Amino acid sequence: MTLLFRDDAYLQEAEATVISSDTDGIRLDQTLFYPNGGGQPGDTGTLTWEGGQITITDARKAVPLPEQGSDVQHVVAEGSALPPPGTRVKLVLDWPRRHRHMRMHTALHLLCAVVPGAVTGGQVSADRSRLDFDVPSASLDKEQIEARLNELIAADHPVRERLISDADLEERPELVRTMSVKPPTGGGSVRLLQIGPDDALVDLQPCGGTHVARTGEIGPISIVKIENKGKQNRRVILAFKE
Ligand SMILES: [Zn+2]
Repeated sequence: MTLLFRDDAYLQEAEATVISSDTDGIRLDQTLFYPNGGGQPGDTGTLTWEGGQITITDARKAVPLPEQGSDVQHVVAEGSALPPPGTRVKLVLDWPRRHRHMRMHTALHLLCAVVPGAVTGGQVSADRSRLDFDVPSASLDKEQIEARLNELIAADHPVRERLISDADLEERPELVRTMSVKPPTGGGSVRLLQIGPDDALVDLQPCGGTHVARTGEIGPISIVKIENKGKQNRRVILAFKE
């Protein structure tokens, strides 16, 4: 299936054809809905067709059908009337929610640029997000991190995606900041998210999520708290200031 958010994370509406529909959800030939993964929640929204409309309550990665590289299961509320296979449907994202995910997700990349140390976990949400870092002491200064993060946001750095070959990534292990999650190699290339221009990189690491186009779009962020989550593990929680 075609993952439309890969080429344009700002696409809010699209048309698609139903491949299958059952109580597990709906599969389509293409989608706007980002499936839960990499710490970013699955998208929600609506699906409309002639004579029907249903709410999509979640999007999850599905085991691909034969000869499809990826697939997304569009989850619906129990008891929903499902469109049969072959139906042309209109997809509309819950864009305010997704846009907050994009802003938060991009902010977490900037947090990676501010806080040293390997990333041991993370979660994006529309209100609060967090990253866990493997850092040895309670050396993280909340005010300093917040000030530096907001500087990087206000600098309005460009954000773009590019591909790196599996082989090139293998030669640059420093690009992988996550300790437990390895990027999905084996497909020939991996997506990299780059913040800042080539000659003045702010952050560069494998990522398959959705992001805003410039850091200024994130808006002001506050560090809610820094928690001690065990030996060498610090959890940094952030939220939008407004
Ligand atoms: Zn990302």
